[in-house]
Amino acid sequence: METVVSGIRPTGHLHLGNYFGALRNFTKMQHEHHCFFFIADYHSLTTHPTPEDLHGNIKNVLAEYLAAGIDPEKATLYIQSDVPETIELYLFFNMNAYIGELERCTSFKEKIRKQPANVNAGLLTYPTLMAADILIHRATKVPVGKDQEQHLEMTRTFGNRFNRMYGVDFFPEPQAFNFGEELVKVPGLNGSGKMGKSEGEGNAVFLADEPEVIRKKLMRAVTDSGPVEPHQVKPEAIENLFDLLKLVSKKDTLDYFEDQYNQCSIRYGDLKKQLAEDMILFTAPFRDRIKSLLSDDAYLKKVSSEGRDKARESAAKTIAEVRNIIGFKSF
Ligand code: AMP
Repeated sequence: METVVSGIRPTGHLHLGNYFGALRNFTKMQHEHHCFFFIADYHSLTTHPTPEDLHGNIKNVLAEYLAAGIDPEKATLYIQSDVPETIELYLFFNMNAYIGELERCTSFKEKIRKQPANVNAGLLTYPTLMAADILIHRATKVPVGKDQEQHLEMTRTFGNRFNRMYGVDFFPEPQAFNFGEELVKVPGLNGSGKMGKSEGEGNAVFLADEPEVIRKKLMRAVTDSGPVEPHQVKPEAIENLFDLLKLVSKKDTLDYFEDQYNQCSIRYGDLKKQLAEDMILFTAPFRDRIKSLLSDDAYLKKVSSEGRDKARESAAKTIAEVRNIIGFKSF
């Protein structure tokens, strides 16, 4: 049995990228492994949310996690800030992480480019906090999307460095996990890159989106003027739409539009309409469950407090050992 950890920042609603990149695998793994799933609310502070937004987003993501199939009887589902042991491990990792390696991190460089007015130390140390999230439970498997590959590599670096420094074999080397398949990158609707909450308005389709919202987002999805030669290579924006069809549509639908594309008779309006309807069907069960969970405060409270207790028990064990290894011993 492996120990598994994964988390999602509550900076908005869960989208199809979160679902296909991380959640889908996680919900499958919870039956056979020792799983921890958390809401990464400390991480979300890098964007300076208001207290109301922060609290509201945590509640939404909790309901959305449950709606997406996380079973709190099987997995430990908790809120990161309920487990302050994580922060202690984060501090220890920060002492041994070098500024240069943190500055070279691709996601940090991207943030500098995207939000030059808010390049805070939390962004720089995102990889040490992520290492603490995973290694606080000494996890060996992490169901993540392709965008997290580099962070996971850094987690192994920090864990191994700790082991070497203190001459111990304490932290394992956690690996990304996608049931033997390549890690997934779900594209967004704006023509390039990945689906993400901070990738621009209308780029992401959320599990909680109403049908009309999904239709509108799809109608605005970026396309081009269409192929001019049979079997032409698809430009990125078009490939992205086909990738999304592969995730939510039937194979016949995909084959039909592939044929139409290859014969240069494709009408992107039709493809987008079909994709919207398939996304609406796909998200319908989540949407209904999210609504009923959001109105059940007592249940959300019970889940989060039981999750907190289980997560703290595991985290406290790790921290006690880490303190002892480092030399914080009682007299
Ligand atoms: P975030 O929303 O950035 O906190 O990411 C939470 C989890 O969702 C991580 O495991 C990511 O790898 C995964 N994820 C986010 N966006 C995508 C995407 N577009 N494709 C695949 N996985 C994703």
